[in-house]
Amino acid sequence: MQVYNTQAHRKVELEPIEEGRIRMYVCGPTVYDQIHIGNARTFLSFDVIRRYLMFKGYQVTFAQNLTDVDDKIIKRANEQGRTAEEVAGEYAAAFIDQMHRLGVLDPDIRPRATREIGAMIEMIQGLVEQGNAYAVPSGDVYFSVRSCPTYGTVSGRNVDDLMVGARIEENGEKADPLDFALWKAAKPGEPSWDSPWGKGRPGWHTECSAMVHRYLGTPIDIHGGGSDLVFPHHENESAQATCCWHERLANVWMHTGMLTIDGEKMSKSLGNFYTLKEVLDRYPADAVRLLMLQTHYRSPLDFSFKRLDGAVGSLERLQGLVKNLRWAADNASTEEHEKSDADRAFCADVSAAREAFVSAMDDDFNTAGALAAIYGLATSANAYLAASGGRVVTSVALRASDTLLELLDALGVESVRPTASDLPEGLVGLAARLASFEGDAPEAAADALLAARAEARGARDWPRADAIRDAISSIGLVIEDTPAGPRLKTQG
Ligand code: AMP
Ligand code: ZN
Repeated sequence: MQVYNTQAHRKVELEPIEEGRIRMYVCGPTVYDQIHIGNARTFLSFDVIRRYLMFKGYQVTFAQNLTDVDDKIIKRANEQGRTAEEVAGEYAAAFIDQMHRLGVLDPDIRPRATREIGAMIEMIQGLVEQGNAYAVPSGDVYFSVRSCPTYGTVSGRNVDDLMVGARIEENGEKADPLDFALWKAAKPGEPSWDSPWGKGRPGWHTECSAMVHRYLGTPIDIHGGGSDLVFPHHENESAQATCCWHERLANVWMHTGMLTIDGEKMSKSLGNFYTLKEVLDRYPADAVRLLMLQTHYRSPLDFSFKRLDGAVGSLERLQGLVKNLRWAADNASTEEHEKSDADRAFCADVSAAREAFVSAMDDDFNTAGALAAIYGLATSANAYLAASGGRVVTSVALRASDTLLELLDALGVESVRPTASDLPEGLVGLAARLASFEGDAPEAAADALLAARAEARGARDWPRADAIRDAISSIGLVIEDTPAGPRLKTQG
C-alpha cells in the first residue's frame, strides 16, 4: 500500500513497525464549542483510513486526544461565567455525540489533556535535563528550538528562514523568538496544576507527544491531522519526542486538505462555518460521508448544500439498488445451473469492481476512485436487473449486493445495509391492497404512497421516506421519475 508521507513529500510504501499491526494517532479537537464540518472532514478522513487498514487485515490501535484545557476554553468559560472544566466537559460530550452520529468509530484510547498532566511534566523534565528546554523566572518553560538538530524536517522548513518571519515578542523572557511554551505559568482565575516550576498548565503542543509515548509507544506508524497542523503543531510535537526520547514520533505523517466554502478555508474565526450538528440535523450522515469521500483526502474540498443534496440522491440510489438486488434474489426464477452469459458477465463485473476499489484505496486511500468503482458496479447491476426480465440467479444477485455492502462498509457507509424497518402506520394496509392488484397499480393507492414519501422527504424524515420506499419495493414496484413526477411501475 502506498501512503503519502508529508515529511518525505511523496508516497511511500506502508511498512508497519510490527507485522500486521498499525498504531496511529490523530490530533483531536479543542473542546470549546460544537465542531464545524471542516473539522469533521479531517476526523472522517482518518476514520476511513483506519477502517480501510482494518479491511486490509491490520490490527489497528487508534488513539485520539481531547484538548480540554486551552486559551479558547478559558475565554469561553469567562464569557459564560462557568468553569473551564464545565465548558470542556459539555463540548467533549457534544463532540463524541456528533462523531457517533457521523458513524466515526470510537478511538481505542481517548486521553484528555487534564488527566495527563503527570506524563507531560515528566516529558518536560526530561527536556530540561537534556538541555532542550529552560524555565524562566515567571514559571513558564520553553522548548529551545535551536537545540533540536532535526527541527523543521516534518514541515520541510529551515530554521534560519523561520527566523526571518519570527516576530519580535513582547515576552522578553524567551531566549530565542522561535522557542515555544511547553508549560505556562498560572494566571489568576485559570485552571492550574502543581509542577516543579510552580503552578501552571501545559502548552498546546505538549500533550500529543506525551500521550503518544505513554499509550502507543514511539515511534508510531501513522500520525495525522489537518494540513493546518503541519506547522507549528506537528513540527513541535516531533521535536519534543526526538529530543526527549531520541526517537522519531511517527514513521508516516498524514495530513488532510482543508474543507472550504467558496474557496476559503472553513473556520470559526472567519465565521464561514456550519456546525456538524446543524448539518446532521438536516441530512443523513452517510450523505455527508459520500460527499466528503468524493474528493481525495489531501485535496481541498469545496462544500455546498447543492453538492450535499446530490449526495443524498446517490445514497438513496445505492439503498434502492441493494434492496432491489435482495428482492430479486428472493424472487429469483432461474436455477443456479441455468446461469446465462449475462449472469456470468455480470459476475465478472462484480469482481472487477472489487479489484478496482482495492487498487484505488491501496493508492493513498483514493476514495474518489473507490466510489467510482462502486457507482460503476451500481450502473452495471441496474442494467443487469433491467435486462433480466425477472430471470435472475439468487447467488448472482446476492453476490452483487454483498460486494456492494462489503465495499461500502469499508468506507463506513453503513446505512445502505437494509434493516427491518417498520412501515409507518396506515401504510401497511395500503401496500397490501396495492400488492393484491394484478398489472398496473391502482392510481389512488399509488398516488397516496408517493405523496406520503414526497411529504416525508420534504420534511427530511429519511427513516420514514425509506420505510415507504421499502414498502413499495417489497411489493415488487419501483418508483420511476418521469417529467410529470414520480410514478410506480412493476419491477424489472
Ligand atoms: P482544532 O480543534 O482547531 O485543533 O481542529 C481539529 C481538527 O480539525 C484539526 O485536525 C484541524 O487540522 C482540522 N481542521 C480545522 N479546520 C479545518 C477545515 N476547514 N478543513 C479540514 N480540517 C480542518
Ligand atoms: Zn497534536
